[in-house]
Amino acid sequence: MFLAKNFTKQQYYHLISQIMNKPYFKLFSNCLPVKGYTQSIIYDLQFGRIEYIPNLLFDILKHLTNKTVVEIKNFYEQEYNEGIDNYLKHLADSGFGFYTDSPKMFPDIDLTWDNPFEITNLVIDNCFDLILGSKLNVSVDDLTLIIRKNAEEVCYKLESINEKIRSRSLQIFLPYHESLLDIIFDSLSSFNKVKQLVIYEAPEHSVNQKGAIQIISTKNKIEFAHNRNNVHPNYFTQNITLFTEAQNYHTYFNRKAFIDMNGNIKLSPEHVDLIGNINELNANIDIMDIIKKSNFKVLWNIKKDDTLVCKDCEFRYMCIDTRIPIKFSDRFWSHKVDCNYNPLLGKWKWEDGYKNVADLSIDLTD
Ligand code: SF4
Repeated sequence: MFLAKNFTKQQYYHLISQIMNKPYFKLFSNCLPVKGYTQSIIYDLQFGRIEYIPNLLFDILKHLTNKTVVEIKNFYEQEYNEGIDNYLKHLADSGFGFYTDSPKMFPDIDLTWDNPFEITNLVIDNCFDLILGSKLNVSVDDLTLIIRKNAEEVCYKLESINEKIRSRSLQIFLPYHESLLDIIFDSLSSFNKVKQLVIYEAPEHSVNQKGAIQIISTKNKIEFAHNRNNVHPNYFTQNITLFTEAQNYHTYFNRKAFIDMNGNIKLSPEHVDLIGNINELNANIDIMDIIKKSNFKVLWNIKKDDTLVCKDCEFRYMCIDTRIPIKFSDRFWSHKVDCNYNPLLGKWKWEDGYKNVADLSIDLTD
């Protein structure tokens, strides 16, 4: 009663901070706030979870990197004291941050991205005999094999394919064929690089784990649509690799290559333009020489922060977007097709109130 009667609001909040004896609030180094046009998100890169926060709290958290909670409250002239206390308590209770008296003892996370492989993801679409007869000789991080027919036969050739294309992990797409599944699975399970098996045109959708292999059954066909936006919140991933790559590179095109059914080389399955053919490979020309010569390698370095609309999106470091960027100005890139999400409204296409970006008449180049 004595406190309530005689203390000003400012003195009360100051006292609370003193009682807590931890004047600073810090997010854990794996928890990074990202600002969008309508809302912000804290990405927890260790536990792969997110927390939506208002943009005002994003600004407050940014200020809190070098100011005490009391200083921030003073900066906002005590207008948000209660909200600040409640939000910080919530973030501390849910493991996103903590109070401390020595913030400098907790350095920021290193956001450098690197990968020892010149191609991180190579996708091969059913041209396995062409590959085996070619001079292709490459090491990649992740190899994706799309099998369209004779799945059993292809699985028996995996050893030879793997000699041509050395990879750290292997993902295999194959058509649903009930009587062959067990035989194929047995031949794959001895191949310990196989991390994921996607069975397409299956009667039901399911996700199972068998030993080290994740088995996804999908009713979908394997189709590559040119410039279609497939972004959906179900496919977002929050991890340090994607987050750091997205700071400087395009998370879909960077270090990706695709070889189609005829041995044609493209930058991705969605590209219509060919950049070469595996017949051109020889002892002096490898696949990277062909990629480097092409005009499309520029796509590797187009980050979302340089792309109109996406640069204002809070999902920009967890999103993998297959649309091909086009040059908008010296500074910015854009897309021909709108994303399913409009960050200027904070709404998905299937939500009430969604509008196309063009209908909002907002200058995005600021
Ligand atoms: S607007 Fe851009 S960054 Fe945001 S979800 Fe869509 S494609 Fe991803």
